[in-house]
Amino acid sequence: MAIQSIRLFGDPVLRTPAAPVVDFDKELRKLVKDLTDTMMDAPGAGLAAPQIGVGLRVFTYYVDDRLGHLINPDLDLSSELDEEGEEGCLSFPGLSFPTPRAIRAVAKGFDMHGEPVTLEGTDLMARCFQHETDHLDGILFIDRMDVKQRKLAMKAVREAEWSGLSAPVIKVSPHATGGKAL
Ligand SMILES: [Zn+2]
Repeated sequence: MAIQSIRLFGDPVLRTPAAPVVDFDKELRKLVKDLTDTMMDAPGAGLAAPQIGVGLRVFTYYVDDRLGHLINPDLDLSSELDEEGEEGCLSFPGLSFPTPRAIRAVAKGFDMHGEPVTLEGTDLMARCFQHETDHLDGILFIDRMDVKQRKLAMKAVREAEWSGLSAPVIKVSPHATGGKAL
């Protein structure tokens, strides 16, 4: 077991796009194991490498008794959306909010041995693929919410006991955010 600490919202690594995996080597297999162990310990339905501080395009999932991982994912999404589904994130402990996502997703990528893999998911599985792939692009679920929901989410984040633990609080002018969640 190699359980890693999970980075919290505010840590810059969560806003940094991850690099594609090039070497399908022993180190990559250790990363997949660390992600799996950390996700199962949390417990969580998915975990992306940046959440344990590693900037590589790798995530693990555990949804509906399906446990697996995907490397260098590429998603094909249904146009049909689930607007109301609740979503949480291990980098936002204890919080979940309605977040719009495509209902179906086909995720293409590779396994840790470099073999091509195609995964299909609906509902929670599709949501997981989208959430984790977003992590690899430095995108967080709060970015997927409408403005009103994001405001409610950010209020809950500010009130959360873990808020501000991962990075110094930087005070900015209320006009300086450009409409983006901080
Ligand atoms: Zn997450």
